[in-house]
Amino acid sequence: MSTPPDPCATCGLCCRVYVVPLVGRDVWRISTRQRLAPEEFVVVYPNPPGAIDGFRLAPDGPLYAMALAKKGRYARHRACVFLLELGGGYSRCGIYADRPDACRVYPMVSWEGMAVQRKDAVCPPGAWTGAALRDPSWRDRLQRMDMDMDIYNEVVARWNARVAQLPAGTSLPLAEFFSYLLNVYDGLAALERTLGEEILSRVVASWSTLPAAADLAAAEHEPDRFPWLRYLQRARAVINRFYPEVPIQRPFAVIREELLARRRP
Ligand code: SF4
Ligand code: SF4
Repeated sequence: MSTPPDPCATCGLCCRVYVVPLVGRDVWRISTRQRLAPEEFVVVYPNPPGAIDGFRLAPDGPLYAMALAKKGRYARHRACVFLLELGGGYSRCGIYADRPDACRVYPMVSWEGMAVQRKDAVCPPGAWTGAALRDPSWRDRLQRMDMDMDIYNEVVARWNARVAQLPAGTSLPLAEFFSYLLNVYDGLAALERTLGEEILSRVVASWSTLPAAADLAAAEHEPDRFPWLRYLQRARAVINRFYPEVPIQRPFAVIREELLARRRP
């Protein structure tokens, strides 16, 4: 069976309209494979007051998120910094093999365990055929995006716990956060190489952000039934090697759920 043509090869419409969010693994992948410093392609911006996610640079400062830079001065509807103009109205991604998770899953979202096309997708009419939309790799990519977000939250939680120990009124430079990201993801990449592709694909396929208490207990005795939990434990061991003076935190997904529960009426 022939592979359907890739509608993204010369399109790039979505690359002109969105703020592309980044997690730590995106920054590490682009930085190491494209040999770019994070400062060359990442913009950071404060999350709204009351947000739970994000990294701090000062104990009493805001939580920040990361996004891909745009060409020229940052503005939402400018083209992505990596978009290549081909002439004749065509364009394509200049880092396609290393593009962030958010680009890898577009135009799909998860819905009741399935990958479905976004209703607001900006793709040209007819760009995606039924066969291309049913490709099982979409679900794999969506699962991997969830996993990368959860691991990034763990990475950030360790950094934030360290920042919380700073004296009030002091802050750390953004470059130090980027340096931490690159180092911690070097360690996580080594973990993935140790596991190998087959085990890693089982981890991704079984990823499930918040462990039920029963699953946590069962995972102690039947680790093979919960490959994602085993991975989470091992990834946390890698992350916890950084800043040994900072106490080990509980899994961020559990803390996050408690914070959200307190806010529910
Ligand atoms: S995902 Fe859609 S809008 Fe984006 S490049 Fe591909 S076809 Fe174009
Ligand atoms: S990284 Fe590539 S796919 Fe993603 S927005 Fe930029 S140009 Fe488009």
